[in-house]
Amino acid sequence: MSTSTTARSQGTVLVVNSGSSSIKYQLVDPAGGDAIASGLVERIGEETGAVKHVAGGTTTERELPVADHGEGLRIVLGLFDEVGPDLSAAQVIAVGHRVVQGGPVFDGPVLVDAEVERQIDELSPLAPLHNPPNLTGIRVARELLPDVPHVAVFDTAFFHHLPAAAATYAIDREVAARHHVRRYGAHGTSHQYVSHEVAAYLGRPVEQTSTIVLHLGNGASASAVQGGRAVDTSMGLTPLEGLVMGTRTGDIDPAVTFHLMRNAGMSVDEVDDLLNRRSGLKGLTGENDLREVHRLVDEGVEAARVAIDVYTHRIKKYVGAYAAVLGGVDVIAFTAGVGENDDVVRALSLAGLERLGIEVDPERNAGRKKEPTVISPDGAATTVVVFPTNEELAIARQAVAVVGA
Ligand code: ADP
Repeated sequence: MSTSTTARSQGTVLVVNSGSSSIKYQLVDPAGGDAIASGLVERIGEETGAVKHVAGGTTTERELPVADHGEGLRIVLGLFDEVGPDLSAAQVIAVGHRVVQGGPVFDGPVLVDAEVERQIDELSPLAPLHNPPNLTGIRVARELLPDVPHVAVFDTAFFHHLPAAAATYAIDREVAARHHVRRYGAHGTSHQYVSHEVAAYLGRPVEQTSTIVLHLGNGASASAVQGGRAVDTSMGLTPLEGLVMGTRTGDIDPAVTFHLMRNAGMSVDEVDDLLNRRSGLKGLTGENDLREVHRLVDEGVEAARVAIDVYTHRIKKYVGAYAAVLGGVDVIAFTAGVGENDDVVRALSLAGLERLGIEVDPERNAGRKKEPTVISPDGAATTVVVFPTNEELAIARQAVAVVGA
C-alpha cells in the first residue's frame, strides 16, 4: 500500500508486551497502521519454550529452551536478522513498551530512563503480576537496542484524570491515601483508541460525542468517554473489578472474601486465586472461552446458559449506569475477542434497552466482524458499532508522539 511505503520512510515502531513468561511483539508502521512483523515468545524459563515469528506472509516457529526475557528478545532479534524484515532497513524510531500500572504517577506515555524504570518498579505492589515482567522487558530491550528511544505506554493513563466521583472509593481517606487505593482502571490504551477512532469512523467530532466502550476479551472492561476523555471505567484498583471475565469474577460483595476466610479457612492467596483465576465464566462453567461456553449451551448444560445470562446482565447494568453518567449515549462500541466475534453476547447485552434509544439490528449484528460495522438500525438515537481494537498500533502512535518523529 502506498500509505505504508510513505510511512516506512518515516520509520517504524517495535511494540513489546512482556508477560511473566512471554514476550509479544509487533513491528508497526504507525502512519499506515500495518503490522510489518509480529510474534510471540512463550514459556520463558520452562524446559522448552516456543517462538513464533510472522513476517511477509511467512511463519517461522521454533521450540527451544528460553532461559529468560533477555534470551527471548535476543532470539527475536536473531529472527529479524535471519528471516526479516531487516530492522535497520525498517528504520525503527522507537520501542514502545506496554506497562500495565502507571499508578498515581503517569498520565501519559513517557521516554524511559533510569528514573522511569525505578518508578515502574515502585508501582509493582499495585500490579504484582504485571509490572515486574513489564519492567524486565524494558530493561533487556534497552540493553539490546541501546540506540533507539524506549517509550513506556501505560494501561492506566487514559483513566488518570477520571473525575474524583468515579475514581474515589468510599473508604477512610487516610488509609486510601497512604496505600494509593483508588480506581486506576486498565485496558486504557484500547478504550482511548476505540473511543477516538470510532468517532472519526462515524464522522463525528470526538469533542461532542458520548461513548460507551465495551472491551470484551478474556479480560473485560467498560468505559464511559465524554468529549474524548474518560469519565468512568469498570476496572478498579486492579483489573478484578467490573464485568464478568474469562476467569475473573468482576464485581462482588467484598464481604464474600471475609466470609470465605472466616468460614472456609481460605488464605488471602487462596481467595486471590479463586477470584482472579477460578471465577468468571471458568468458575461458572469450567470453560473461560465463550466459544466453549456456547458449545456447552448447545449440549443443554443449564449452568452454561445461566453463565451467559450472568455475563450479559452485568454488561447491561454497566451500559445503563454509564448512559446515566453520560446523560445519554451517542455511541456504544463493542471491541476485543468477544466484542468483535460474539453476536449472541452483543444482542443479549443490549436487549430491551429500546426505551433508552439503544437497539441492535439482528441482521447487521449477525456474525463475526473483522471491520468496523454499525449494528444499530438507521435512525436509532444511539449508534451501536463493532469496532476492532488495535492496541499495538495505539502504543506505536503514542511512542511516536513522545519521540517527536
Ligand atoms: P485477551 O487479549 O484479553 O486475551 P482477546 O481480546 O484476544 O483476549 O479475546 C479472547 C476471547 O475472545 C476468548 O477467550 C473468547 O472467549 C473470545 N472469542 C474469540 N473468538 C471468538 C468467537 N469466534 N466467538 C466468540 N468468542 C470468541
